[in-house]
This record gives sequence, C-alpha cells and structure tokens, in this order.
Amino acid sequence: MPIEHAAIIGAGISGLTAALALSRRGISSEIFEQAGELTDIGAGLQVSPNASRILAELGILEGLSKVWLEPDAIRLISGGSLRQLAAVPAGKFARERWGAPYGVLHRTTLQKALLAAVAADPLCRLHLGVRMDSTPPPFERAVDVVIGADGVWSKLRQIVPGSPSPRFSGNIAYRFTIAETEAPGFLDRTSVSAFLGGSAHLVCYPLRETGSFNMVAITAGNIAPQAWQSEATAEQRAQLRARLSGWNTAIVSLLDRNRKLTFWPLFETTSGAWQDGRKTVLIGDAAHAMMPFAAQGAAMAIEDAYELAAFLSNRPVAEALARFERHRAPRIAKLRQRGAFNRFAYHAKGPIRIGRDLVLGLKPPLSLAADLDWIYGYRAVDLP
Ligand SMILES: Cc1cc2nc3c(=O)[nH]c(=O)nc-3n(C[C@H](O)[C@H](O)[C@H](O)COP(=O)(O)OP(=O)(O)OC[C@H]3O[C@@H](n4cnc5c(N)ncnc54)[C@H](O)[C@@H]3O)c2cc1C
Repeated sequence: MPIEHAAIIGAGISGLTAALALSRRGISSEIFEQAGELTDIGAGLQVSPNASRILAELGILEGLSKVWLEPDAIRLISGGSLRQLAAVPAGKFARERWGAPYGVLHRTTLQKALLAAVAADPLCRLHLGVRMDSTPPPFERAVDVVIGADGVWSKLRQIVPGSPSPRFSGNIAYRFTIAETEAPGFLDRTSVSAFLGGSAHLVCYPLRETGSFNMVAITAGNIAPQAWQSEATAEQRAQLRARLSGWNTAIVSLLDRNRKLTFWPLFETTSGAWQDGRKTVLIGDAAHAMMPFAAQGAAMAIEDAYELAAFLSNRPVAEALARFERHRAPRIAKLRQRGAFNRFAYHAKGPIRIGRDLVLGLKPPLSLAADLDWIYGYRAVDLP
C-alpha cells in the first residue's frame, strides 16, 4: 500500500526538498526543525546541474535563477603565479551539455526558496523550535516513515543500527567575504575561481544577492575537542597565514586586511547503514556528510530527497528504504573518492604539483567537462 504521511527531522536543504518531493507524489509530511527561525546561516553554495534539474522539477529554480549568478566557468588558478591552469566551461555550456544550469548563491537564498514552497504547500507542515533528542518528537498523526535530515550531528541516527558516526576530517575551512566594490581585479566577477597552492586552496565567487565575494580557504589543521564554527582567533589566523606561505602576496594581503574570518572545522561521517529495515531512513549530511572538495554535499542532499520520494511512492516502506540505500550508496562512495582525489590534486606540492599543472594544461576544456558528466549529467530516478 502506498504511504500517506512522513515525519522529517530537520528543515535544511535535504529535509525541505524531501517534503516537496513527497508532496509531488501525494504524500503529506510534517517537518520538525530545532531552530526557532531559519536565519542567515552558512555561506555560498554552488548548485550543479544534477541538483538544479531537480529544483526545476519542484518549481524552485525559476525564482532562484532571477537572483543567482550562472558563472561562465569554473577556473583553477595557481595561488602563486595567479596563472589560470584550467577552466571548465559553465554558463550556457552547462545548460546545453548537462541540460540544466550551474548557479552560485547564498545557502540561505536556497533555503528560503524551499521554505516558501513548503509554506505554500498544503501537504507540508513545518514545526519550528522542535528539537529531537533521544526520541522523535510527538507526531500529529501516524507516520509511515521517519526521515532523518538533521545534518552531520544527526540525532535520528541513534535509532538506526550500524549508522555512520561523525568525525573530524582533519580539514578546516576559513571563511570571509569581500565587498564586490573592494575586490581586486584578479578576482573574476563572472566565474568561480579556485586558487590552488601546496597545503591549501581558496574558492571565490561573487554572490549577487549580497554584493560580495564568498571566500573559503581550506587547509589541513587540528582542533580542540568540541571545536565548532567561531570567529578565528589570532593563533588560528596565524596558522592559516603559515599555510599560505609561498602564495601570491595579492591573495595573502586579502586575508591580512582586518576582516572577519570564520574558523570552521569540517566534519564528515564514516560509512554505515542509512536505514533500519523498517521505517527510519537518513538522508543528506545525516547519512553521508562529505568534504566540500567536489562541492556536492547539498547536491547529494537534493538527489537523496528526490529519489527517496520516488522509491517511497510505489512500494512498501521497508523495501523502498532498502532499495534507496542500495541505489544511492555507490554514487555517494564515488563522489567521496572524487573529493579525496580533488583534495590531493588541489593541495599538491613539488613534483606532483608540476605534473598536475602539466596534465591540466594539456586537457582541453571539453575533456575536463567530460570528466564531470557522471556528476552533472546525472538524472535522478523518475525525473520526467
Ligand atoms: C565550506 C563548505 C562549502 C560547501 N559548499 C558546497 C557547495 O558549493 N555545493 C554543495 O552542493 N554543497 C556544499 N557544501 C555542503 C552542504 O552545505 C551540505 O552538504 C548541505 O547543506 C547538507 O544539507 P542537510 O539538509 O543534509 O543538512 P543541514 O544543512 O545541516 O540541515 C540540518 C537541519 O536539521 C536541523 N537539526 C539538526 N539537529 C536537529 C534535531 N536534533 N532536531 C531537529 N532539527 C535538527 C538543523 O538545525 C538544520 O536546519 C559545503 C559545505 C561546506 C562545509
């Protein structure tokens, strides 16, 4: 018998997308979010065609594409010489090759758009300020499935035997912003730029909604137990500075200007079960938080949400959850491998760096794009 009602823990990107995708299939849901209100959290987000195709189907894309930037390329640039090493075309090319746009925006813009769609949907009901602790919150009515979309620190995970655990990845993200009016000329206003240097890389792109550049540097680093996102201390700032030794002074001086710098330890999850064989399932970061080296965490959360709804729409719950997990796990594992490879390549030093630059220099843009077909060209199951 098809399911009628779902409970979703967490109103992040995965939870809200799941509610909308279920609604498309006539399944109602109630969503429980710990935050009393959804405020401006997080940073910039790159939304690749595999995810934007789903957002289009859910009726979200049209509004987003009025405010986001479709970069003309994703550029890899030497953090030392500022020389472009390679560029993957995006913009019109992305729409044509992968059948959907590549956009960059603030995470809050996406979350608000999803939230507005959920608020307007009679099959979705959002409860703010309700935190799940050791047991799920009281549901308004009987639920057929409980979906854990509660992020890397998921509580719902505790009721899925053998589920993944969070662990510090050994990487730190440092985030800051620069007003577009103050941005130096080498920061391209129409593309995503990833500056690469031994031990670190720095991703920059403009956020049209805020009139600023989103700047995130990622390096290896250590943390004190329980460390969480916070304003960088002088010592943490000095650690980043040390990682950027040998980088172009134009980049280093961006950091040296007295700007607010956020210290953001990056956590990931180990592998493990995503469902309990009955009626509880994890999606998004709750199931498989990953490093941002392939910029795919939110895209995977969106794919998960859409595909879970498709599996739930036409088979018994336990079977749907098992098929969902079997179907998604290989793709997530492959993306993790791509992320690990990107980390190795982005932070390469010495002869490996020289080899990397040579290989990148020889690869035509079309060949770089072809390497991404399996990620960006992916069509979630049952997408019309
Ligand atoms: C530096 C950085 C850059 C990134 N860049 C990109 C990118 O460019 N592209 C991309 O696709 N991805 C990117 N990501 C990854 C992306 O941000 C995440 O994968 C994505 O936001 C995960 O969404 P989620 O809904 O699964 O989890 P979350 O966004 O963590 O949402 C979880 C929600 O659950 C709520 N919650 C948690 N616990 C409870 C509880 N006990 N009870 C009730 N509610 C609860 C939280 O308040 C939150 O609202 C990046 C990540 C980082 C760190």
